[in-house]
Amino acid sequence: MVNPIYAALPTTIFTVMSGLARETGAINLGQGFPDEPGPEAIRRVAAEAVLNGNNQYPPMPGIPELREAAARHYARFQGLDLDWRTEITVTSGATEALACAFLALIEPGDEVVLFQPVYDAYAPMVRRAGGVVRMATLTPPLWRFDRAMLEGVFTGRTKAVVLNNPLNPTATAFTPEDLALLAEFCVRYDAIAICDEVWEQVVFGNTVHRPLMAFPGMRERTVKIGSAGKMFALTGWKVGFLIAAPPLTEVLAKAHQFLTFTTAPNLQAAVAWGLDNSEDWFAAMPGALAASRARLAEGLTREGFVVLPSQATYFLNIDLAASGVAEDDMAFCLRAVKEAGVAGIPVSAFYETEAVTTVMRLCFAKRDETLDEGVRRLARARALSR
Ligand code: PMP
Ligand code: GLN
Repeated sequence: MVNPIYAALPTTIFTVMSGLARETGAINLGQGFPDEPGPEAIRRVAAEAVLNGNNQYPPMPGIPELREAAARHYARFQGLDLDWRTEITVTSGATEALACAFLALIEPGDEVVLFQPVYDAYAPMVRRAGGVVRMATLTPPLWRFDRAMLEGVFTGRTKAVVLNNPLNPTATAFTPEDLALLAEFCVRYDAIAICDEVWEQVVFGNTVHRPLMAFPGMRERTVKIGSAGKMFALTGWKVGFLIAAPPLTEVLAKAHQFLTFTTAPNLQAAVAWGLDNSEDWFAAMPGALAASRARLAEGLTREGFVVLPSQATYFLNIDLAASGVAEDDMAFCLRAVKEAGVAGIPVSAFYETEAVTTVMRLCFAKRDETLDEGVRRLARARALSR
C-alpha cells in the first residue's frame, strides 16, 4: 500500500544517533549542529518580526528583501552576479531546495551522477523522482574524483550531477582543478550540476569556496543551493536558497510552490537582515570553529587517535583503522554511544556500496568542556573495543 522506495528506507543515521544519545544521555558529537544558540542580533530581529512583523503568507519565491540580500551576499563573497528577481528562490532549507531540483529537473529514466560518501537525502529523492543513480566512489584520505572515474559514470543519458562542496562528511573542499574537470564533463554531456553548497561559509584557513556555477560553461546549467542555517549556525531555521539561471528558476519555483509554497516570513526577514549586517560574524565564525576543531584534533591525537584533515564543515574524522580500532565504524559508533557515552556518525552510512568502514565523523561545533569530555569518552570506547 505504500511507495516501495520510502518503505525500504532506513531512518537517517543522524536521527538514529541523536536518538541513542538522548536515550543514553551521551554527549552528542553525531548530528551536525552547534551547541551555542547562534548570533543573538539575528535572533532578536526574528523575535521582533514574530511580534510586530508579517505572519501571513509571504510571496512564493521569498520576500524581496531576502532575495536582494542573498544576491548582494553572493556578489560580495563569491563574485556572482545574480538577478534576485529571476534567479533566487527562498526555500524551507536546503533539503527542500534539493527536492525542488530533483522534482523539477528529472524525468523517469534520466541518469543522475552522485558521489559517495553521499548525503543521505540525495539518492532516495532522485529515485523517487524517477531518476537512475550512477554512483562514483570517493575514498580517503583525499576523497577526490578523477577523469577516469567521471568517464565511468557520465553517459549519453546523464541529466544531472549532484556535487556537495564542501563535502559532508569528509570535511574537504574540491580543488579548482577538480571543479574545472567536472565542469568540462557537464558541458560535454549537456548535464545540469546541482550544487549543494550549504557549507560554503564554513571553510577554514586558506581554503576558498569556489562555486561550480562560476566555471566556464556552468552559469546556465547550475543549480546552486545554500542554507542560512549553516551560514548563521541556526540549523533549525530551515531557510534555504535555490539559485539558477532564469529558465531553470522558472521551473524550480513550480516545484517549490507545491512542496512548501513558502517559508516562515519572520525567519526570512531575520536572515535578510543577517546577510547585510554580519561582516563580523562571517569574519569570526570560521576562526572560532577552527579553534574547536584544533582542540578536538589535539585531544584525540594526544590519546593516540589518527584524524583526517578537515578544511570545512563542522566535522573532523577519525581514521579508526589507523587509530587501533579493529571493529568497523558502525560497531564502534554503537559501542561509543552505548558503552562510553559519546555519539558520532559512522561514515559507512554515506555509502550504498563499497563502503569505507574505517572512518568516524565527529561534530566539533561544541563547547570546549564538551569536546574534552568527548575525547575522554572516545578513548574509553577504544579501550573497551580491545
Ligand atoms: N546538504 C548537506 C550536505 C547538509 O550537510 C545539510 C545539513 N547538514 C543539508 C543539505 C540540509 O540543509 P538544511 O538544514 O538547510 O535543509
Ligand atoms: N546535515 C546534518 C549532518 O550532517 C544533519 C541533518 C539531519 O539531521 N537531517 O549532521
